[in-house]
Amino acid sequence: MITYKQADHIIFKESDHIFIFLVSESAIFEIEPKIEKTIKLFNKSEQSNKKEILKKIKDAGIKNYQEIADTLIKRRILTPLIEKKNISCVYNKIPLKTLVFNITDRCNLSCLYCYHNKDNKIEKTDSMTFATAEKAVDFLFDNSDANKKVTIVFFGGEPVINFDLITFITGYAQKKAKKLQKKAEFAITTNGTLLTEKVIDFFYQNKIGVTVSIDGPQEIHDKFRQFADGGSSYKAILPKIKNLINKFQTKGGKPVVARVTVAKNAAHLPQTLEHLLKLGFAEAGFGPVTTDNPAYQLNTDEMKIMLNKFKELSDKFLRYADEDKFYGFTNIIDLLVLLHQGEVKNYPCGAGLGLFAVSAEEKLYLCQRLIGNKAFCMGNLSDGFDTEAVKKFRKKAELNAKPECGLCEVRYICAGGCYHEALIREKKLTKANLHYCEWIKEWIKYGLKIYGKLILKNPDYLNKLSMLRGHSPVTGHII
Ligand code: SF4
Ligand code: SF4
Repeated sequence: MITYKQADHIIFKESDHIFIFLVSESAIFEIEPKIEKTIKLFNKSEQSNKKEILKKIKDAGIKNYQEIADTLIKRRILTPLIEKKNISCVYNKIPLKTLVFNITDRCNLSCLYCYHNKDNKIEKTDSMTFATAEKAVDFLFDNSDANKKVTIVFFGGEPVINFDLITFITGYAQKKAKKLQKKAEFAITTNGTLLTEKVIDFFYQNKIGVTVSIDGPQEIHDKFRQFADGGSSYKAILPKIKNLINKFQTKGGKPVVARVTVAKNAAHLPQTLEHLLKLGFAEAGFGPVTTDNPAYQLNTDEMKIMLNKFKELSDKFLRYADEDKFYGFTNIIDLLVLLHQGEVKNYPCGAGLGLFAVSAEEKLYLCQRLIGNKAFCMGNLSDGFDTEAVKKFRKKAELNAKPECGLCEVRYICAGGCYHEALIREKKLTKANLHYCEWIKEWIKYGLKIYGKLILKNPDYLNKLSMLRGHSPVTGHII
């Protein structure tokens, strides 16, 4: 006889509706009050067979006990206790999807909080050569296997410093994609200082997705994002980003998005988002600065402020969504799409799976933030991946290998968090980011509430958001 146990779950309520989030399936659906009542009869560690389940529900005086037991099993709220299969992808070859090109280590800004300037473990080189870039494009396509689409990300330093190389890589990758009947997509993260007419036109013509690093209005932005002499970078970028956004909007280019690094003070987030949306950015995403320097790092109180501001901005997003309008707060959009897609993550991100970064010296790294750090080198363009190093990383980095996360109710969404953050804050790349557990749990639970509210008021909106992120609409996910 099959033995069942209660699935890990979170129950949350919105306007008299009860929802359940099943942790290991990342599934969310509405339940009836009698189902909620029945779930409470079982405790987490309890194991029972169908006969025992029926007896328990019947003894509690709940009507239709047979039907309720069947619903609990059908909806996997009570799941069969089976030996856990190892679904790890440690030993599988994963086709390469995204290669981040470290176009140059050079940067014309000297941002005070920049990990690139401060991490002395990073080996600095100058710019990538054309020959290396060609080899890297070939490597990406050669390792993309059945993937029909590959993505090239231009990163630095400030990548536009080496604009000629960007034009070369784009042209070469486009030709190669055509020959192989694949598609090459491009994205760039830039500080905005070098966005001339020529650069903007090129980005538009080649459908390059542009993310600008900008921290807010002048007084906030210039606090940390400065030229080497301490001069304002805001004044330098303002006319350029206005021109970029204007051109892209008029001609119908890809939406231009902003990436905000939050350092020391998070109270300005609503003001900053308003400012960036007014400038014409389609969206802005916020991330706390990754550093162990207390001069820039957000302390516990500042992280709390950031969470409260995230909630405030999510509420505003919801008010817009209720009216079928769009409010470009990237963080809640990404979280809602993740929940809607029901993605179950065994790794926090694609680094070391379908995503790698390549350096000017032709070395492959787990991701752009780990470029130049010898300990996380995963091979090179001539010899290919160091399969032993990749396997070792995947084995240590997967959720199963993080015992601290074993019982966490948001583990299949967080999966331990960013490796670079863990390296800086926890001193070990594959360690769970325990310093922000409470923060991330509360943020995800707030996201669940927003999700529930949206399902009740404007359910189609979640499919629209998903499509905005390139996913197909979800059908039959919400019961
Ligand atoms: S790092 Fe913390 S929040 Fe994230 S999965 Fe692990 S225990 Fe949960
Ligand atoms: S390790 Fe961190 S910085 Fe690198 S790709 Fe993953 S989430 Fe991004």
